[in-house]
Amino acid sequence: MIEIPLRQSWLNTFDRCPEQARQERLGLVTTLPNSDMLRGNLVHAAIEHCGNMMMEYGAIRCLEAAPTLDECMEYMDSVTAQLSSEVVEWREDYEKVIDRARVNLTGWYNDYLPKLGIPTGVEQEFRITLDERDGVRLVLTGTADWVEPNRITDWKNPGREYAQWEKRRWDLQSTVYCHALGIPSFALVAIVNGVVQETLIERPAGYGEALKDLCWSAAGLIQSDLKVWPMRWSGWHCSPKWCPVWQAGECRGKHLGSNPW
Ligand code: SF4
Repeated sequence: MIEIPLRQSWLNTFDRCPEQARQERLGLVTTLPNSDMLRGNLVHAAIEHCGNMMMEYGAIRCLEAAPTLDECMEYMDSVTAQLSSEVVEWREDYEKVIDRARVNLTGWYNDYLPKLGIPTGVEQEFRITLDERDGVRLVLTGTADWVEPNRITDWKNPGREYAQWEKRRWDLQSTVYCHALGIPSFALVAIVNGVVQETLIERPAGYGEALKDLCWSAAGLIQSDLKVWPMRWSGWHCSPKWCPVWQAGECRGKHLGSNPW
């Protein structure tokens, strides 16, 4: 049996541009940590700490089990030096990144934590068999931010709010997590300058079956000996700011340079 592991984040890349996904899978390029990621990583770390404390000191109402906002901030401060040292590209000043992370954590704590129950898992890894055909097994892997018995929640710290109808129609991460964990309800929580936007997404069983077809389409390319996979230009991802292949001077980057627009 040949096993093909498919990580959720890689599937997202594949969905945007198969050629970028190919180069990442072969280790030809990697996305370098930038300050936008640092903002998200800091808030994630503090929320993970909060969820772990809630699981450890579980109570009937979540707020009775949660650490205080000050304790969450202290935790975030304790990991800031380490996470900051990993940043290669600073898109904003250090102080501004830290300020925005603190504002986002405060918004999450005050406006969203009261809606949450005690999680059954935070940063919960999964690895499941998605499907098997003709001696090939597809294995789905990923990490879910916050899991409760009836809902999975994921935290984002984007620059602006999402178009909710787009996420409900096309979001792939929710499909992967809901299928993998057997929970059909997903909350996509975007925290933008301290304001929380919640997008509720339902992913009943048919989405999981459609996901299998998508993953087999990726498996076909993985098993081929194609030297290049289809390229997809249309979308924000195809730019020197976001595509590591472009940044490495390959694909469109080879012809258009690092500052085409
Ligand atoms: S430059 Fe555009 S087409 Fe080429 S790999 Fe990157 S996203 Fe895909």
